Amino acid sequence: MGMLVVGSVAFDSVETPFGKVDDVLGGSATYFSTSASYFTNVALVAVIGEDFPEKHITFLKSRNIDVSGLERASGNTFRWKGRYTYELNEAHTLETHLNVFQSFKPVLPESHRDYEVVFLANIDPDLQREVLAQVKKPKLVACDTMNFWIQGKRDSLVETLELVDILIINDGEARQLSGEPNLVKAAAKIRAMGPKTLIIKRGEYGALLFTNDGVFAAPAYPLEKVFDPTGAGDTFAGGFMGYLANTMNFDDASIRKAIIFGSVMASFNVEDFSLNRLKSLDYSEIEDRYREFRRLTHFDDI
Ligand code: AMP
Repeated sequence: MGMLVVGSVAFDSVETPFGKVDDVLGGSATYFSTSASYFTNVALVAVIGEDFPEKHITFLKSRNIDVSGLERASGNTFRWKGRYTYELNEAHTLETHLNVFQSFKPVLPESHRDYEVVFLANIDPDLQREVLAQVKKPKLVACDTMNFWIQGKRDSLVETLELVDILIINDGEARQLSGEPNLVKAAAKIRAMGPKTLIIKRGEYGALLFTNDGVFAAPAYPLEKVFDPTGAGDTFAGGFMGYLANTMNFDDASIRKAIIFGSVMASFNVEDFSLNRLKSLDYSEIEDRYREFRRLTHFDDI
């Protein structure tokens, strides 16, 4: 049980209509592993620079995240700067500094090579494949990416997609990757690239699942307070994969339930900047919101 994740560990500077923060803890793998840690054991593979404070590592350890694959290199930690307008569904990237990720050559500790569930969080698709190649017998491989890599490293990304079972991306990324504005047609094109299961996140409008069994739609939790959407996608993926790694059952019904857990986790994350809300979260709150999701989507055939 448990799973392996490779992705970014970052300092984020974020501006939303409701506030602004500089150099706070962020990164796709950070959000993912924190969210997944509520469901299963997670081993994190990433690189940080000399400027990364010990207190953030202490936090990850406090969530029981295995940081033995988190390498410290000379140089600066990855930095991302983004802005959201009132249309909170779309992040506008202002700056991306790969820094120590530019020369990162991940070598997995021996104990990490036996994981059966692997998540390739948003990072250079070359790195995603380098990590996957070191895992002996992966049973479930899922992946995320973003416009930065779809545009900048498309060929490498297509190679990664051939190796994954599940792709989790947002609607804008699905359109960009497929070159197709209609999401149903885009899904068919993307599934033909490799991932037989595709989840398209639509921000406040929820998520769509495309599999051989057809389409499933889940709403997002209607929140009164949305403060900062940064990390919502990674947090969704963490809840989704965390649930699957916990049950090790990957059938269609489990995948649907996992989407609800992903949506629950994302709904908490957007309530505050950085990982602040995930840090204060209690498992009973996750269960309560899961029940509210059931009520939200239930109807009788009368
Ligand atoms: P999201 O869940 O899509 O909101 O992801 C937000 C996180 O992605 C932020 O914490 C960023 O540090 C991270 N990020 C932004 N750009 C990149 C990139 N090009 N590669 C890897 N991670 C990134």
